[in-house]
Amino acid sequence: MQIFKEIAPLRAFLIEMKASGKSVGLVPTMGALHEGHLTLLQQSRSENSLTVCTIYVNPTQFNNPEDLTKYPRTLEKDTELLESVGCDVLFCPENDQMYDAGGTIRFDFGSLDKVMEGEFRPGHFSGVALVVSKLFHIVEPHVAYFGQKDWQQFAVISRLVKELKFNLTLKAVPTVREPNGLAMSSRNLRLTPQQTETATLLSKALTQAREQLRAGKTIDDVKNGVSQLLLHPDVRLEYFEVADSENLTLLNSVVESNKPILCMAAFVGEVRLIDNMFL
Ligand code: AMP
Repeated sequence: MQIFKEIAPLRAFLIEMKASGKSVGLVPTMGALHEGHLTLLQQSRSENSLTVCTIYVNPTQFNNPEDLTKYPRTLEKDTELLESVGCDVLFCPENDQMYDAGGTIRFDFGSLDKVMEGEFRPGHFSGVALVVSKLFHIVEPHVAYFGQKDWQQFAVISRLVKELKFNLTLKAVPTVREPNGLAMSSRNLRLTPQQTETATLLSKALTQAREQLRAGKTIDDVKNGVSQLLLHPDVRLEYFEVADSENLTLLNSVVESNKPILCMAAFVGEVRLIDNMFL
C-alpha cells in the first residue's frame, strides 16, 4: 500500500494510474476502522482497479470540541487493517495540508441540513461538505463510497455532487452491525462494556418502530414507544424521526413518502450515537 501525507505526490501518483487506464474508488473515513469501513473498501476493491482510503479527522465538521479531542485515533492499527484488505492507497494528511488556506467556506443545503443531525449539530454538514469537496478535488475518483449508517450525510453529499457537478458516481453501502444489532461505529470504542450492551437499545428501538409502522401504527404512537424503550439511566434520546429518505422532509404519516427512513440519535453515557433503518 502506498501511503501519502501530502496532496502533490498523491495527485502525481493518481494522474499516472489513471493515464494507464485504472479506475479509482474513494473511501473517505475518519479512521478507527471497523468492519463497516472494511465493507466499503471491499466494495470499492471489487468495482475499481485502484482503491484510495482517506483517514482524516476533519475539525470543521465537529461542533463539539470535546467530541473532536476524544475522537479515537488508531492510525497504526488502521494502516495494518488496510494492508490486510488490500487497499492500494492511504491518504492521511495533517490539518495544514487540508486547511492551509483556512476553513471558512460555508455550505447551506436548505432543508436538508436543518433537521435531525443538522438541527443538533449546527455547521456539521457544512464541514462535511467542505472536506468531501476537497477530497473529491484531490483524488478525482470515478466512484466514492459512503455508508448508509450516516444517511443524512449521504443525502447532503448527493446534493453536493449534483450542485457542484462533480464527475463521479456515489454509492451508499448498507450499515454493518454487530451480531446483537448495534451499528458499528468508531465511537463505540468510547463505550464501556456495560454501555456497549445498553447501546443495543438503539437498534432495538428502530426495529420495534419499523415493525409497528409496518403494522399500521401512527408515527406519533411509534415515537412514544421509542421514548419508552429508551428510558434508561444511561441513555438520552436526542431525536427519533421518520423522514423521506431523499429530501429528508420529516413525515407525519408514512404514506407521505415513497421511501421513508427512520433516523435516531441518542447519547449512551457521554457518547453520541446515530442509527437508521429504511421502512
Ligand atoms: P467515519 O469514519 O465514521 O466518518 O465513516 C466513514 C464512512 O464509513 C462513512 O461513509 C460512514 O457512513 C461509513 N460507515 C461508518 N460506520 C458504518 C457501518 N457500521 N456500516 C457501513 N458503513 C459505515
